[in-house]
Amino acid sequence: MAYTPTLLSSPIEYLKTVGPQRADLLKKELNIFTFGDLLHHFPFRYVDRTSFYKIGQITQQTPHVQIVGQVMEKNIIGERQSKRLIAYLKDDTGEIELVWFRALRWVEKSIETGKKYIVFGKPNFYRGSYSLVHPEVTAFEQDRPDTEGRLQPIYSSTEKLKAASLDSRGIEKLTNTLFDSISENDLPENLPQSISARLHLPRRFAAFVQIHMPQDLASLEKARKRVKFEELFLSQIRILQRKTVRKKDSAGFLFPRLDPLFNEFYREKLPFQLTAAQKKVIREIRTDLISGKQMNRLLQGDVGSGKTIVSLLIMLMAIDNGFQTAMMVPTEILAQQHYRSLSEITCSLNIKISLLTAHVKGSERNSVLTELKSGAVHLIIGTHSLIQEQVIFNNLGLIVIDEQHRFGVEQRAQLWTKNTQPPHVLVMTATPIPRTLAMTIYGDLDVSTIDELPPGRKPVNTVHRYDSARLRVFGFMKEQINAGRQVYVVYPLIEESEKQDYKFLIDGYESITRAFPLPEFAVSIVHGKMKTDARDYEMQRFIKKETQIMVSTTVIEVGVDVSNASVMIIESAERFGLSQLHQLRGRVGRGADQAYCILMTGNKLSAEARLRMKIMTATNDGFRIAEEDLKVRGPGNLEGIQQSGMAPLLLADLVHDQKILQVARSEAEKILKKDPLLQSTENATISSYLKSISKKERRWSSIS
Ligand code: ADP
Ligand code: MG
Repeated sequence: MAYTPTLLSSPIEYLKTVGPQRADLLKKELNIFTFGDLLHHFPFRYVDRTSFYKIGQITQQTPHVQIVGQVMEKNIIGERQSKRLIAYLKDDTGEIELVWFRALRWVEKSIETGKKYIVFGKPNFYRGSYSLVHPEVTAFEQDRPDTEGRLQPIYSSTEKLKAASLDSRGIEKLTNTLFDSISENDLPENLPQSISARLHLPRRFAAFVQIHMPQDLASLEKARKRVKFEELFLSQIRILQRKTVRKKDSAGFLFPRLDPLFNEFYREKLPFQLTAAQKKVIREIRTDLISGKQMNRLLQGDVGSGKTIVSLLIMLMAIDNGFQTAMMVPTEILAQQHYRSLSEITCSLNIKISLLTAHVKGSERNSVLTELKSGAVHLIIGTHSLIQEQVIFNNLGLIVIDEQHRFGVEQRAQLWTKNTQPPHVLVMTATPIPRTLAMTIYGDLDVSTIDELPPGRKPVNTVHRYDSARLRVFGFMKEQINAGRQVYVVYPLIEESEKQDYKFLIDGYESITRAFPLPEFAVSIVHGKMKTDARDYEMQRFIKKETQIMVSTTVIEVGVDVSNASVMIIESAERFGLSQLHQLRGRVGRGADQAYCILMTGNKLSAEARLRMKIMTATNDGFRIAEEDLKVRGPGNLEGIQQSGMAPLLLADLVHDQKILQVARSEAEKILKKDPLLQSTENATISSYLKSISKKERRWSSIS
């Protein structure tokens, strides 16, 4: 069955009433090149034409309003930046101000005093009266029966398009014209009949009709669900297929032996009992390592869940089987710390561990490189330095990448080439994301999750304090230090405003040294502008408890482990994102003492920043925080999403549509299990559709 959507690929200028000039605008402004593109330009909102507010009904709680009223007066007032257009809209219950700060001339021309309009916007309450800023305005057409009592689609448009009569209403008319000339044959079904029937999904064509011209709310919801499902289901099919191909293609080293190192360490040297979750992920990883296929696995677990010991045990398996293993971490400090702690914990085992960072130079570096090449080094810990060409392994069998959000897919791929056959790869991250989402975003990775913290951890007590309470915070720090604890004070350092942030950090350091003077106290400072030597020296002083306070930038964000530190103070906390705050907080609460995290902010906070502080003080659960973070920032900001091969999602949203995503995932799995190559007649609908879109993608990629 061939899929030839000829009509939908017609250039947009061929649609009745469009013509070459408006076609040019549609292409430039909205990327609408074809009939099909117009069909996929979905409304972003619907206006229920039956539900209107009276101006007199508006209260401070009213979220959005649709009002019919008459424009009474309009004036452009103010100078330069404060120049604005103000119009007054009146109905039989009152008057409200409409305000524009941009495109004044154009708006002024397009609304006429004395005429009736439908106005949509969010009421602002200011100095005792309400206004609508940048409202959507459409002419009220009394005698337009086709819009009576229905949901009117609202399409995004631009000023240039509006000037060519292609405002939302104009686009709506074009879409109606389009539906006059296409039929079900032009938009064939792309889901197997069995799935649509079981999940009660409307047919594809019918769903598109409803999305553009909804009959009522219920049919619209059904239609939107159908299209969301189709988007998610088809992406899942592609991701899963690609994974199957990858697994089939890449043979992996076999690690059957667990002797002598793994067993000896596991039985005699483990400093604590592993949690059930740690044991579970070790089993999952081990299954990969004896499968004959190359492992590409993501190990996610909250800060402090004990990923390091898991990775050590896995690395011992590699060494037991005659392979070398490498652990790559994002910062010098972390590399050194892992090097020291892993060397210490494995000191009685007969293995050689080395360190390679930019800081390892000269003859020291040469000898590390020689020993790597000869195979004398079993386990190497390092930074990006490990990727360099001069780094040649004798027989690299396993790579562990810690805190993966700092590394890109490409860097991972470079490590693959370090042996004739790609080594196994385990990436570890402390920024957990919901499981279905992880499977989608890290499409090429299998996922293991440590969902439990070691026993006896007390949740970090987190509070939010304003800058004005600083003296009290200093008092609390003194108490803690006198009780033998140590304190971190972290400052933001963000590149664009680096100079100012740097000054802020140094000022903070100075005021802390004044409040905590020698000889009673000692304060360390660590930041990115310091030479590595000086930084290590300061870090070491803190680790050895020679200093009680560590003032730093976020260089200490990942992985640093000083169990005596029990207070984390985060300055300008409003400038950090949720997952970063959670990472920073994770630096404390590793010992037996009650730990505290104090989020310091200015008095003026945006609503979003306030929400972040609220979430942080409410929960210690990294998974919940990650989910909230996704809601606030949207999944578009998640690293890896661009690389995931997700078909563009027009309606579906990875965060809010997780239920649909889960169903889509399991349906896709079921189908591919029975018919991996989609060769059955039932699945022909899917395969021909996928072929058609990948053809389109190739076309695009050859253009750009
Ligand atoms: P992360 O997952 O954030 O990398 P780490 O591996 O650094 O966490 O572990 C955090 C701390 O917990 C370390 O001090 C480690 O020794 C300790 N730890 C790990 N697993 C256990 C366990 N099962 N029981 C007790 N302590 C543990
Ligand atoms: Mg770690």
